[in-house]
Amino acid sequence: MAYEPEVAAAKFAEADPRDVLAHAVDRFERIALSFSGAEDVALVDMVADLGDKVQIFCLDTGRLHPETYRFLEKVRDHYGLDIELMFPDPEAVQQLVREKGLFSFYRDGHQECCAIRKIEPLRRKLANVDAWITGQRRDQSPTRAEVPVVQQDRAFSTPGHPLVKFNPLANWTSAQVWDYIREYEVPYNELHERGFKSIGCEPCTRPVAPHEHERAGRWWWEAATQKECGLHITNIREDDIKPARASA
Ligand code: SF4
Repeated sequence: MAYEPEVAAAKFAEADPRDVLAHAVDRFERIALSFSGAEDVALVDMVADLGDKVQIFCLDTGRLHPETYRFLEKVRDHYGLDIELMFPDPEAVQQLVREKGLFSFYRDGHQECCAIRKIEPLRRKLANVDAWITGQRRDQSPTRAEVPVVQQDRAFSTPGHPLVKFNPLANWTSAQVWDYIREYEVPYNELHERGFKSIGCEPCTRPVAPHEHERAGRWWWEAATQKECGLHITNIREDDIKPARASA
């Protein structure tokens, strides 16, 4: 019987993330975990207990912090897991940089650069799995306030290849994630000790003040309702996307 994400979302709406992961791994043969090199390391820790079926990958945009690269190696060593780095198409990067320079996102918005450095490599990876796991949480930003635990991935599914997205941490708060990291002595990115909460590419991430929302430090020059890089673009309401397209 075909998998019904809405049914699973209702069933696991309040479930512990480990139960969601166990269900996902049990249900899908080809499944991957997107690891960003930040606090979603909690998911790597949980997945490590489920054998080696889950493919762990990271989008290496070429613009990550040195601390994040060191952290990726630390996680690889700590768990003895393969972490596949997905690189952007070099010709596409060269063309962008040749035409617009290295920091066009400050002027033109982040979508163009993210499309090349993140979305195309992600699409390549997701073409070979039937489900993927993300670290999205509802408390992260206005764009994620309604993220379900399981959903059909409308951005990356195709007519011949439906794709399911699991968000096991959707119900967890940042505090719960950090409680988990401390309780299980999970390694974490040293940038978190310097005021960084949500960590992405170096030029597009800055520390946030204690009173600021955690994704306030991402693409800080853009409106809060636009702060998705395309990985989770369906989180952005169509009403909010239109003005951005119009102004592009
Ligand atoms: S986050 Fe910034 S540097 Fe990274 S891919 Fe997007 S626009 Fe480019």
